[in-house]
Amino acid sequence: MRFDVTILGSSSATPIYNRNPTAQALNINERFYLIDCGEGTQQQMLRFDIKSSRIDYIFISHLHGDHYLGLVGLLSSLHLNGRKKPITLFGPAHLKEIIDLQFKYSETTLHFDLIFQAIDPAAPTVILDNQDITVETIILDHRIACTGFLFRQKKRLRKILKDKTEALDIPLSYYPLLKRGTDYFAADGKTYPNSDLTTDAEEPKAYAYCSDTLYNESYFKQITGVDLLYHEATFAHDMLDRALETHHTTALQAGQIAKIVQAKKLIIGHFSARYKTLNELLDEARSEFADTELAIEGRTFIIGT
Ligand SMILES: [Zn+2]
Ligand SMILES: [Zn+2]
Repeated sequence: MRFDVTILGSSSATPIYNRNPTAQALNINERFYLIDCGEGTQQQMLRFDIKSSRIDYIFISHLHGDHYLGLVGLLSSLHLNGRKKPITLFGPAHLKEIIDLQFKYSETTLHFDLIFQAIDPAAPTVILDNQDITVETIILDHRIACTGFLFRQKKRLRKILKDKTEALDIPLSYYPLLKRGTDYFAADGKTYPNSDLTTDAEEPKAYAYCSDTLYNESYFKQITGVDLLYHEATFAHDMLDRALETHHTTALQAGQIAKIVQAKKLIIGHFSARYKTLNELLDEARSEFADTELAIEGRTFIIGT
């Protein structure tokens, strides 16, 4: 099952040359989950071949413009392109009001159902549970209510060892039982233990998206052990005062967080426009956590297979 994330935007506050405001596209089993939707996200999707028609879920972390100003444009295009499939949108309660107002005055009635689910900014909540994944909110510490999102793959069924099952002529109708761990009881009365016929599926993987936030230990436990951690790192540590004032994290702190929560890998992003190149931020995060990469537009990170 595919489980990867493509970076569509990595800039904080404003777009700058070659960096767009925040957006990421998760591909989970060939369905797209869009996380944040800064201005220009549609263009980025075209550029990196993310088909907007395949987006079923959108998650908006908070109502600062660099995280959602591309949303109404995207919904509008889907409407104009004749979308009929519903979209589920998760975001702060007031987002609904903003969208309704924009469509009210353009006299637009969307051709598809926009199912809006307001996020509770006070407590981590499981907001989605489908056949592939669960998604839980992460309560962050920003100037306005802000949540991250924790994506966890579901435990998968056991894998059939086809050479074994075919050699025994096991009927295909029996395969669902084998995948669930049942032994095979043959017609001649013999029993074949499940462990001879199947192997374990891969361990479920997890991706944590930590949007704008101060360094705050309150969410560390929840993201412990994730396979991939995206964490904002707006400033270098010499700008700590500015980070505290604007409720952001420094690259050094992002590295420390990855180390504390024992993430397998860290991506840093949400870079301030003051950094024309990003080596300083990368080196700083790597001084705490070696397996760190930059969120660069167009880069895809594999979380699981
Ligand atoms: Zn931001
Ligand atoms: Zn913000």
